[in-house]
Amino acid sequence: RKGTVIITGASSGLGLATAKALSDTGKWHIVMACRDFLKAERAAKSVGMAKDSYTVMHLDLASLDSVRQFVHNFRRSDMPLDVLVCNAAVYFPTAREPTFTADGFELSVGINHLGHFLLARLLLDDLNKSDYPSKRLVIVGSITGNTNTLAGNVPPKANLGDLRGLAGGLTGLNGSAMIDGDHFDGAKAYKDSKVCNMLMMQEFHRRYHEETGISFTSLYPGCIATTGLFREHIPLFRLLFPPFQKFITKGFVSEAESGKRLAQVVSDPSLTKSGVYWSWNKDSASFENQLSEEASDAEKARKVWEMSEKLVGLA
Ligand code: NDP
Repeated sequence: RKGTVIITGASSGLGLATAKALSDTGKWHIVMACRDFLKAERAAKSVGMAKDSYTVMHLDLASLDSVRQFVHNFRRSDMPLDVLVCNAAVYFPTAREPTFTADGFELSVGINHLGHFLLARLLLDDLNKSDYPSKRLVIVGSITGNTNTLAGNVPPKANLGDLRGLAGGLTGLNGSAMIDGDHFDGAKAYKDSKVCNMLMMQEFHRRYHEETGISFTSLYPGCIATTGLFREHIPLFRLLFPPFQKFITKGFVSEAESGKRLAQVVSDPSLTKSGVYWSWNKDSASFENQLSEEASDAEKARKVWEMSEKLVGLA
């Protein structure tokens, strides 16, 4: 049978390119979990995905109710779940003030980490029930949250500190909207959220890999300088960033190429190892990359997991 994969944020950028790459193989049915139904339908059509290769389902990661409703709707569809890809993200590099999810969490950590954390926890059961030979949970990471790299050292650097802001619920009311409890910084909030993504992948691996056989992986797909992720940035940045990445850092990848990379992590028989953070070299060959000290701190991972459980109502 065909595999079934859920991809969050499949209406643009990396998520859409991955959906397209998997659809083209004829071996996958793609559930596009998106906040804007019409945009997702149009996006699938615009890249020429075969009509019977995908289903659009509504998911707004900025609302825990919506996450629970999505899981309910997905189960009612009676599709199996073989692979889940947590891909959606927002980035507010120029925001001066924090904005918040329906549940009152700062938006970038709320969507990128907490919404996905609840989704992945709820769908773990469904993944576990699948009889697919290679079940996977993929959480898209990034180099920017990784302070052992050049890109990860561009200030403001990711740093979760002692997690006091997260413990306080990131509401910005009694405490801070930032995980480390410091003043709000939109670029840093994004990087912190990506560190959480990579920590959670490893914590899932430690807690569930042996028992379930599910592979838990993360990846850095390359710098896809043309996606909507940079839509909130100043116009000059949006103009200069793609050529800068192409010609100076040479880290640039096209959306199509990045989609092929994530599609490999979803389906390639040689990429089944669990607990791994995948990257690609200049020749587009995959390799197991090293995470920064903070992004591989097991004690921090456990704490983020437990605090996040409380915030999303699982504990
Ligand atoms: P895009 O902005 O193009 O795509 C992000 C997707 O997330 C969009 O489909 C967007 O939906 C969706 N989304 C945003 N908020 C929500 C929400 N509340 N609920 C559901 N979906 C939502 O960015 P990219 O493709 O670049 O980013 C994809 C992933 O790749 C992210 O995890 C990012 O961190 C990662 N990444 C990107 C890099 C890059 O250079 N671009 C580098 C490294 C990692 P909508 O279409 O409705 O806006």
